[in-house]
Amino acid sequence: MSNRRRKATRIVARVYEQVSNVRQDYLHKLSRKIVDNNQVVVVENLNVKGMVRNHKLAKAISDTGWGAFVNFLSYKLERNGGKLVEINRWFPSSKLCSNCHYQINELPLDVRTWTCPSCGTHHDRDGNAAMNIRAEGIRMLSSFGTGEANANGEEVRPIRGRKPKMRHSSVKLEAHTDLAVQCG
Ligand SMILES: [Zn+2]
Repeated sequence: MSNRRRKATRIVARVYEQVSNVRQDYLHKLSRKIVDNNQVVVVENLNVKGMVRNHKLAKAISDTGWGAFVNFLSYKLERNGGKLVEINRWFPSSKLCSNCHYQINELPLDVRTWTCPSCGTHHDRDGNAAMNIRAEGIRMLSSFGTGEANANGEEVRPIRGRKPKMRHSSVKLEAHTDLAVQCG
């Protein structure tokens, strides 16, 4: 490799590092915002590299990685006394009707809204998935014995200690979607 070529490679590497730091900073800020507003965050673990519609988030996620973003959420929550719940990647969050739990067979990625054939509820794809992820996260918290949910799944409390009003988010990210952060 010539000196000139080596120099060019170094410069490119340095620029890339700066861009990457900006994106990482964006993910830090986003995770901070989520953690400040929620004590329980439920995430779905997916392989999402380069497949997100929100351009800024897509760039940040594909550079830094979904795993790293979840990691930011995790340690920030831990510091705040909050909790991260990860649900199984095979959980059919998009295909379940959050109203009646009917599961449709197919939901191609370009279908952004759909109507449940069982109960007739019209769904926004990401909003519905976020509600399912939230419900599944609450169910998991309850079954692990670390918290309890009321009948409507609206509140989760630690079994011992103070009983703060908890708010939770579900973070839904999948191919060709925006990050849907739903606060309840
Ligand atoms: Zn339904």
